[in-house]
Amino acid sequence: MSSFINIHSIIPSSRVNGPGKRMVIFFQGCYHDCPYCFNPDTHSFDKINLYTPEEIFKKHLRQDIEGITVSGGEPFLQPKGLYRLLKTARYAYNLTTVVYTGFEYNELRRDNVCRLCLEFIDVLIDGRYEESKKENTLLARGSANQRFYFFTSRYLQKDFYMPAKAEIIIGNDGIIRETGFSRIDLK
Ligand code: SF4
Repeated sequence: MSSFINIHSIIPSSRVNGPGKRMVIFFQGCYHDCPYCFNPDTHSFDKINLYTPEEIFKKHLRQDIEGITVSGGEPFLQPKGLYRLLKTARYAYNLTTVVYTGFEYNELRRDNVCRLCLEFIDVLIDGRYEESKKENTLLARGSANQRFYFFTSRYLQKDFYMPAKAEIIIGNDGIIRETGFSRIDLK
């Protein structure tokens, strides 16, 4: 299996993308084209940053992180890389795994590699973003049509109520980024 993943960006520590402190990994490439997508820069399939899972953990993993959240872009459009990433997170680092996808669970079940990925996911949040159903609580999802699948007993739905809807992060490169499930006017 190809071990490189095309990554848009990585946030080493966030408290608004799933339970506790999490490393957030945004995959590059998505064709779902949800109107009002929160992350349109991730749509192109240009090669942005090619990393192996091992490189991601070596470079970005902090000690106080309890798990990874994989978002995008569409993680399941790189299923082999996603599989290796999830497996490495669970077996090599004992991290929990949360994955957001624009596909629906039943669509993923039809593909052999995607099905393998599901075995290494603690919580899946599925479905395309629908602006008319925008989530208006602190639950960590974009819109109310998206469903939570708890494949293990590590988390419950109450763990996905976040302390805030969004965070502003200043990276080592000095660039200010926003993450979470709301838009903040940075101007
Ligand atoms: S699936 Fe996610 S990244 Fe893709 S268009 Fe929809 S909201 Fe945007």
